[in-house]
Amino acid sequence: MRVQTHGDGTPDLAVVACLHGNERCGKTAIERVLAENPTFSRPVRFAIANEEAIAENVRFIDEDLNRAFPGDSEGETHESRLAAELLPQIRDCGVLDLHSTRSHPEAFALLARMNDRTKRLARATGVGRVVDISYVVGGLIDYVDGVAVECGLRGTERAERNAERILRNFLGETGAIDALSDGGDPELYRIFDAVGGGDYEFVGENFVRVEEGEVFARKEGEGGTELRADRAFYPVLMSTDGYEDMIGFRAERVGTLVD
Ligand SMILES: [Zn+2]
Repeated sequence: MRVQTHGDGTPDLAVVACLHGNERCGKTAIERVLAENPTFSRPVRFAIANEEAIAENVRFIDEDLNRAFPGDSEGETHESRLAAELLPQIRDCGVLDLHSTRSHPEAFALLARMNDRTKRLARATGVGRVVDISYVVGGLIDYVDGVAVECGLRGTERAERNAERILRNFLGETGAIDALSDGGDPELYRIFDAVGGGDYEFVGENFVRVEEGEVFARKEGEGGTELRADRAFYPVLMSTDGYEDMIGFRAERVGTLVD
């Protein structure tokens, strides 16, 4: 794990990249911003989490790091020990946690704890959509006040550009560096259900409302099936091949984040 602190004093802001080793956009964004040697008016801790998984271009070595918190320094798995090493260094910080996905090319933010601090962090990312994922158990942002951002499709340049823009906006909005930034007023969605099932083709589009009765996923071949919405919802993190045994999540639109 690579941890560096920029600026004077004890940081109350942290940026985390590569909880998943094959999601490099956050690492690229951090390296691009820090390469410019910006002046930090407020200290920030940067962590590139799973370097061993990055080296092998895999999500994790032994287990999903984002499901390994709080971890155990004597733990059996690489990620359990890594989680125990990372968490104390960022526990009191407002955290920006950068990811990429198989589901959606545009960036969106995820909140697990809903409070004024996490809402401010989410606005500081400048993204247009924020999803309350408190329905889904686990993840770093259950253990800290933080916002996770899905920056775009894994391995794409667009995800790297999004991550860099989001990081600059976040550092600018929080007053850590001098940068043009925009707080915005993102729309808020709330996940209320996970849709299980393997080998389904997701035929909808994330954040585009699926009406009651509409088919949103199908399985071809012998015993092929269609999944129809029993109520209207917004797909979030839904994809054909993003998860082994799950299509993704159903969400409702709540309003805007500051309502
Ligand atoms: Zn991830």
